[in-house]
Amino acid sequence: MTDTTSRNTFSLLGLGDMGTALTRTWLTAGHSPTVWNRTPAKAEALAAGGAVAAPSAAEAVAAHPLVVVCLLDDASVGSVLEGVDLTGKDLVNLTTSTPADARARAAWAEERGARYVDGGIMATPTMIGVPEAGGYVFYSGSRAALDTHRAVLEVPAGVRFVGEDPGHAALHDVALLSAMYGLFAGISHAYALTEGEDIAPKDLAPLLSEWLGAMGFFVGNTAERLTSRDFTTGVVSSLAMQVAASGTLLRTAAEQGVDAGLISPYLDLMRRRLESDPAAHGGEDTAGAVLLLKR
Ligand code: NDP
Repeated sequence: MTDTTSRNTFSLLGLGDMGTALTRTWLTAGHSPTVWNRTPAKAEALAAGGAVAAPSAAEAVAAHPLVVVCLLDDASVGSVLEGVDLTGKDLVNLTTSTPADARARAAWAEERGARYVDGGIMATPTMIGVPEAGGYVFYSGSRAALDTHRAVLEVPAGVRFVGEDPGHAALHDVALLSAMYGLFAGISHAYALTEGEDIAPKDLAPLLSEWLGAMGFFVGNTAERLTSRDFTTGVVSSLAMQVAASGTLLRTAAEQGVDAGLISPYLDLMRRRLESDPAAHGGEDTAGAVLLLKR
């Protein structure tokens, strides 16, 4: 397989906000990717900056061994690449998908003679090409294909390989995003509680940030307990205490006229863990509640 450290040896399909940001970064770094987009005007705009606009997806794929795809969703990937010859290609698919979608797409690509790498982008378009912003991409699938093209892929954002299972980039991506939305839910609830009181959001903000930072220990603590299956040693805030205290959280929400719908599922999970065996679980912390989530 051709090494892609030279300047014009790859193609990109999809020039939405993300594909455009990727292309601009590659152009700034001196690459001249071949690009294609369903709406041609976006490719023409980038051609003025040094990209090579291909008239069709098939021609963009035919142009180079490395084909990067950044489309809306897996269905659009399927429709754009339908009937396109992928023999001998390295397909790097940065389109957000589920792990099952990614595994199916990997098998689909391999049946067509391509090596497949899936990517989960942990960045917004404004973070692309800005190393200090901390954005990166999870990759999984063919390590050999990733290693062949690492120099090109490292230009727009950091490369983090998370294994040969093509579903694992998507799984890491969704795990982090899901945790983020849980955090957003708690923050939203906190602001709703104080809304309309003589507590300015800007005054609550640093307190919230500080508290959430202090609670960051829970990430590593839970990992250790899930690994050891020891949910009790060294517990400082017992599940029994936390379940009792959760009534205060719910009553405060009611007093403040706030819908507790964002936090009550987690409080309920703690209660169910405790009630399933109070003697066994009362002295745990909340890490064991994870086990109740798995269906
Ligand atoms: P946009 O909505 O800006 O762009 C979507 C792209 O997909 C466009 O190029 C669009 O073409 C193309 N497209 C959509 N449907 C079809 C179709 N049926 N056939 C052909 N092309 C199609 O999305 P983004 O660029 O922001 O996102 C691209 C991927 O990156 C997504 O999977 C997204 O989840 C992921 N991502 C985005 C982030 C972000 O903050 N933007 C962050 C992390 C990941 P056209 O221009 O013709 O409409």
